[in-house]
Amino acid sequence: MAFEYEKARYPITPFLEFQTAFPYIHKAKFNEFNQGHKMKIHEYQARDLLKAYGIPVPPGKVAATADEAAASAGELGGGVVVKAQVLVGGRGKAGGVKLASSPDDAKAKAQAILDLTIKDLPVEKVLVAQSIEIAKEYYVSVTLDRAKKKVVLIGSSSGGVEIEELAVNEPEKILIFEIDPISGIDQQGLDAYCTRLFGDPKLSTQGADTFRKLYKLLEEKDCSLVEINPYAKLPDGSLVAADAKINFDDNGVPLHSDVEGMRNPEEYSPDEIAAKEAGLSFVSLDGDIGCIVNGAGLAMATMDIIKLFGGNPANFLDVGGSSNPEKVLTALRILMNNPKLKAILINIFGGITRCDDIANGIVMATQQLDLKVPMVIRLIGTNEEEGRKILDDNGMAAAENLSEAVKMVVERSKKGLKA
Ligand code: GDP
Ligand code: MN
Repeated sequence: MAFEYEKARYPITPFLEFQTAFPYIHKAKFNEFNQGHKMKIHEYQARDLLKAYGIPVPPGKVAATADEAAASAGELGGGVVVKAQVLVGGRGKAGGVKLASSPDDAKAKAQAILDLTIKDLPVEKVLVAQSIEIAKEYYVSVTLDRAKKKVVLIGSSSGGVEIEELAVNEPEKILIFEIDPISGIDQQGLDAYCTRLFGDPKLSTQGADTFRKLYKLLEEKDCSLVEINPYAKLPDGSLVAADAKINFDDNGVPLHSDVEGMRNPEEYSPDEIAAKEAGLSFVSLDGDIGCIVNGAGLAMATMDIIKLFGGNPANFLDVGGSSNPEKVLTALRILMNNPKLKAILINIFGGITRCDDIANGIVMATQQLDLKVPMVIRLIGTNEEEGRKILDDNGMAAAENLSEAVKMVVERSKKGLKA
């Protein structure tokens, strides 16, 4: 259960305060800012999870080609909706959602959608789902309010593609229900909330049932957001999920092998994938001084000190506790992929990390990579003598004093000198 150690995992940052000023719906949409890292999945994957939790979803299939889409449309029979599977919202407005009346029509629509690029993302797959007749569109979601330490249900009877405009212009049409994660759902409160949201008792009973399932899903799978928009009312008065979006707290993903299995490589840059495979914590930033540091705390402090001396870090990179030489090599390889890079600072305070391992990695990198920018090394701690000797034997030197090292790297980043 995620909530008890939430605070330890996410220190309160000014970002969060900024976010709480947003209307709630924006908080749900932009929750990536106050939720640390998160993992996204495609609609067709999110639908499977909703189904597994007993929420009605129209039948559908994912297709990678127009012919596959036509075959799926044939199997489903009748009208279908063809939908771009990309990891961003607003597909409808971008032409990524189209109705089709026959397999041939589905083939043509699928081809048109597969040819699209939506918000810089090429469409590689489409979902072909049985088309439904929508009598009314609701919005329902569940997310976290970290400032209040509550789970919040968000609902609107004016769902659909204009929900973000609604959140700005008519925020009173968005209704919130809070859940205390310790005591759980106040069932009577939830029923009253759903009556306000859906009006009609038949709808509000279904809505309350769906909210309970969404909450269970969020809690059990460590989601940071589960959103259904539109939560569609059919002419017979039943409600179905016509779209699905789920984000996960990245720190919870390793706890759930099924969720881990839904990870999409296209969500990550090649550098992020290489870093993850090598066991490095890596975040790109927009400065020009590449950083390789052992330990997240020291890595943060290093970036602060670079700023203090007038420089700009190009990245956060923690090589971790037991850094073998290959990790350093991979780290330097990743940094060198950045065309903006002007200088590199390696800052090691060896504890479990051994300075000789780091030094060997640096030497390997100088032999295997074309290090085009000056590099400043600060090396102290475990096996420092051995590490310094390895560097010395290879014509390199390491500073002891961090301020000196940072001043030097900032200067070199400005001059663009080779070390
Ligand atoms: P989004 O724009 O990325 O959120 O994509 P959606 O899946 O929400 O689709 C956008 C809009 O297309 C929805 O709000 C609906 O109005 C419409 N839509 C989606 N599926 C269907 C369907 O099966 N039948 C009909 N009539 N409209 C649909
Ligand atoms: Mn939608």
